[in-house]
Amino acid sequence: QAKSAGRSNYRVFSEEMLHQANNRLMIEQSIGAAINEEQLVLFLQPIVELPSGRLRGFEALIRWFHPERGLIMPGDFIPDIEHSEAIIEVGNYVIRKASELVAQLKSAGWPELYIAVNLSAKHFLAPDLLNVVRQEVEAQQISAQSLLLEVTEESVIEQVEQAMAAMAALKALGVRIAIDDFGTGYSSLSYLKQLPFDLLKIDRCFTANVLDGEADAHIITTVIELAHNLGRQVVAEGIETQQQAECLSCQRCELGQGYYFSRPLDVASVFKVLQEIEETRLWPISQAPQPK
Ligand code: C2E
Ligand code: MG
Ligand code: MG
Ligand code: MG
Repeated sequence: QAKSAGRSNYRVFSEEMLHQANNRLMIEQSIGAAINEEQLVLFLQPIVELPSGRLRGFEALIRWFHPERGLIMPGDFIPDIEHSEAIIEVGNYVIRKASELVAQLKSAGWPELYIAVNLSAKHFLAPDLLNVVRQEVEAQQISAQSLLLEVTEESVIEQVEQAMAAMAALKALGVRIAIDDFGTGYSSLSYLKQLPFDLLKIDRCFTANVLDGEADAHIITTVIELAHNLGRQVVAEGIETQQQAECLSCQRCELGQGYYFSRPLDVASVFKVLQEIEETRLWPISQAPQPK
């Protein structure tokens, strides 16, 4: 009996594995075409100054509009290609599109805004990244300061020496760097001190609990203080309510991002809002705070 149970477990397991392998293969094989056919689309989520609400920039978040499978969110395909060459193709594409956007924003009278691009560790540590960024900046005639690269804490801590070299080279070009999802990895504070990043992004799992007065709230307080001591600014991700925004602002967290301000928007919607707020430069909080 144990044997047959074992066998059937094995079957379930292997079919699941087959499915995953197929999925990964499908993604790797179709990503090139997806890029050429513009199925990969950048959505933008505003990042605002706290407490003023002044617009400071956007994070580019990718979506895949697949002709047969419909909308695929990044969490459902990025992890599958993160260790293959495809992730570099995707990343280079996002850098190109983000640079084009910076140029468009500049022409529309918003030269002060930046675009943040998410990069996987493999891409961040790839020797060619610097050249790609330099090329796009030159091609679009934009300032490198208008681009911000986000890398996760986890990915820089696994290969600290290489990450440090990559950051230094990018910083020399003028590009800014953020450590994403901070608090979810295991970085040692002494490493953090050595890394020449500009912004620390507090992961939204902490933001969610900023009002509870317990562990996560204390972690936020400590992280903000630590970042300030190192001369860095802090972005709180995943702000969903006015109370969270106020609480973070009171702790002198400089920047905020989340559904409370806006969900990620397509580019047309962004430019529509920008026209409406040309005078005030304050991002409108148009929607009611959304419950989780
Ligand atoms: P991330 O960089 O930490 O991005 C933040 C994620 O949180 C986004 O999910 C965003 O839509 C979501 N979010 C923002 N505000 C709120 C909020 O108030 N509440 C909640 N519950 N969620 C919020 P999304 O767009 O699904 O992206 C997921 C992850 O996929 C990103 O996490 C990033 O790691 C990755 N990703 C997205 N675009 C790219 C890309 O172009 N390249 C790479 N390598 N990774 C990307
Ligand atoms: Mg990010
Ligand atoms: Mg994040
Ligand atoms: Mg995240």
